[in-house]
This record gives sequence, structure tokens and C-alpha cells, in this order.
Amino acid sequence: MQEELARLREAALAEVASCGAEGELEAVRVRYLGRKGLLTQAVRGLAAVAPAERPALGALVNEAKDAVEAAIAASGERLAAERLAHRLAHERIDVTLPGRRRPRGHAHPLRLIEDEIVDVFVGMGFRVAEGPEIEDDYHNFAALNFEPDHPARDAQDTLFVAPGSDLLLRTHTSPVQIRVMRAAKPPLRVVVPGTVYRRDDLDPTHSPMFQQVEGFMVDERVSFADLKGVLVHFLRRIFGPETGVRFRPSFFPFTEPSAEADIACFRCAPTGAADPACRICRGGRWLEVLGAGMIHPNVLRAVGYDPEKVQGFAFGLGTDRIAILRYGIEDLRLFYENDLRFLAQFPS
Ligand SMILES: [Zn+2]
Repeated sequence: MQEELARLREAALAEVASCGAEGELEAVRVRYLGRKGLLTQAVRGLAAVAPAERPALGALVNEAKDAVEAAIAASGERLAAERLAHRLAHERIDVTLPGRRRPRGHAHPLRLIEDEIVDVFVGMGFRVAEGPEIEDDYHNFAALNFEPDHPARDAQDTLFVAPGSDLLLRTHTSPVQIRVMRAAKPPLRVVVPGTVYRRDDLDPTHSPMFQQVEGFMVDERVSFADLKGVLVHFLRRIFGPETGVRFRPSFFPFTEPSAEADIACFRCAPTGAADPACRICRGGRWLEVLGAGMIHPNVLRAVGYDPEKVQGFAFGLGTDRIAILRYGIEDLRLFYENDLRFLAQFPS
């Protein structure tokens, strides 16, 4: 029994010494000192020993238990100290390192251009109005003098909310013209920025979602000269005071007469010669930038105005188009891909 005890004691101490972690130490404690531990069983074994030998053996057993417990305690402290030292070494914080800067965001380039456009009109006394992006046929087409069989009403061109539905994603910002005119009386000078939708595939020059700015003015004796004055001023504020502007006859259901405005290519204009290699105008020397016209009498009647008493002009332009020309960007998709490497180039 004495030899057995001595062997257990040495084995336990050796195991304690070889423990590399506090978890292993606990396993050793359970193996020797737990309820069914080897040394615990040795204590129970004393019952089978002759009474005369018990005190001496009992003392030996207790001594062995004490020795193993002390070794475990000492080893536990050592391992805990090592663990702490390891953490302190590895989790050290260098307070002299510079902090992590959060990148500072800014407005999207299309928003910057939109703000710039709107500001020019606000400077001319226009107020800003907005309207819903989901519209009905009445506001988007009928009240704007679109014929019932106009191709724009076709599901091939317009995104309807559901097949056969009267609700659609507005194809232009012009329905806001109708909403504002129905709610207010002239004189009106209103500019309407917003998102519009058409059934187009995404390619370098088309997007099913794009930005427009609509504007209109209604008052007594508003003429085409007012339209030209306002738009020439606007285009020269955006593209520079020397920018050449021309108006060409055009057709829109909601204006009569209608025109499209072009600006002279700002790369070719100074030389005066057409350059087929110009990547901005491709030799055309003029760049189409907006559509406009005198509001059609049918539109004025649709909102309850008397076209004999008031007239108005309206215009619409693609914010994306203006941004492409201003920034010299060749692919419209860049504006919608949200690549920060692109967007970060337009600090506000
Ligand atoms: Zn050019």
C-alpha cells in the first residue's frame, strides 16, 4: 500500500508538471482527487487495512493529497500568469497609431448636377415641385394630350405596375405639371426634378431608370421668346457664358409649337470645323440637350385653364445627359453602378 501510494503521488506530480493549460490541470485534479479519483479511492482503501497500520498510512495518504493539491494550485497560478502575460503581449494597443478615418461621403454626381440645374431656375423665380413616381394613365399620358393609341402607351415602352393596370412608372416628369396646374392657378413658375422609367435595356446610352428635370411657366402673355430667354440663360449658366445655343423644330404631344435645344459642341465650337473624330459630337458640332415648347392648349384645358387667357411654356431635360456632357463621361451605366472609385471623383 505504501509503495502504491508513493507511485500514485509521483505519477500525479509528474502529470501536474507536464500540464500546459489550466484545462489539463483540472483533468489531472479530477483523475486523482475527484470523487472517484485515484487518491480518493486510496483513502477508502484504508478501511481494509489493519487498525494498527491505519494512522501511519492515513498520514501518508493525506500527505500525498496535500502535495498533489499544492502542486496543482501552484501550477494553476503559473498557468494563469502565463495566460495573462500572453494576452498582454498579443492584445497590446498602440495608442500612438493614428485612428481609422471613416471615409467621408458626398452627394452623387447626378444629384450634384440636379442641384445645380434646379438652382439656376430657382434663381429665375421658379419654385420646386415633386410628384409620385407611380402614376396613372391620366396624369402621365391622357392629360398631356397623348393620343389613345400613342406608342409610348405601349407596354413595350412603358413599365406598367401590372399587366392591364392603369398604374405605371412615370415615363417623364411632365405629370407633375398636370398635378401642379390642377392644384394652383397661374402665374406659375415651377421646376420639377425627379426619377423616370422607361422600358429600355441598360447600355452605355440607355437606362431603364434615369433622371429628368421638368420646368414650366404659365401666365398671361407668356411667349416663345420667354422660353428661349429662360433656356438660353440656363444653358449658358450650366455650360459657360459663350455656349452656342440653337433651337430646332420638333414634336411632342403636350407642346405646340415644339422645339429641341442644342448646344454647340464645346470641343469643336472654337475651331468651327466639323471633326468626325470628336468623341463628344462625332462631327455633328451640335449636342441635343433638351426638349421644349409652348404648352398645348389641350393640356391647359385639361387642367381647367382657358388657353385664350393664359399661355405657358414647358421644357424637359435629362439630368444624366447634362452630367455626361459636363463630366465628359461616355458610359451612362457608371452613374448607376455605385462604384466608389467612380463616385469619389465628384467631391461636392
Ligand atoms: Zn465635337
